[in-house]
Amino acid sequence: MEMTRSLKERGFRLTRQRQVLLDLIDKSGQHLDAETLYTRARESDPKLNRVTVYRTLKMLKESGLVDELDLLHKDGDQHYYETKMKGEHAHIICLRCGKVEEYFGEPLAKLRKEVEETLGFEIRIARTEIGGYCSHCQRLRADEMAKAAHG
Ligand SMILES: [Zn+2]
Ligand SMILES: [Zn+2]
Repeated sequence: MEMTRSLKERGFRLTRQRQVLLDLIDKSGQHLDAETLYTRARESDPKLNRVTVYRTLKMLKESGLVDELDLLHKDGDQHYYETKMKGEHAHIICLRCGKVEEYFGEPLAKLRKEVEETLGFEIRIARTEIGGYCSHCQRLRADEMAKAAHG
């Protein structure tokens, strides 16, 4: 596996716990919170405990393998994890149902470049989060408002 090899080259030890969590995050393709990751990790290794899982997540984040997101705090203080292998993208979050869409597009790289050039900044991290209502929730909200208006 490509990623495992590059980690070894960097002198990074991929312990079993780290591998289990990294695989979970990688394969889900979603944005899972720590508690969900803990539950799923226990399915492949029942001996894993919560402290180990949280510590491992922190470590994966610090080594730049995993990104930690708050997704506009859609569920309070939860943090979500996703693989860095995905490439840069923005998160579009529905403020009603919590659905998260991903936007991969040229304008993100353009924005980064423009900020670097105009502000003379060396960007190390860029995070774009946009909140709004998905098309499904827009319809529901319109219905709700119509109902409220008619008493
Ligand atoms: Zn929605
Ligand atoms: Zn994402």
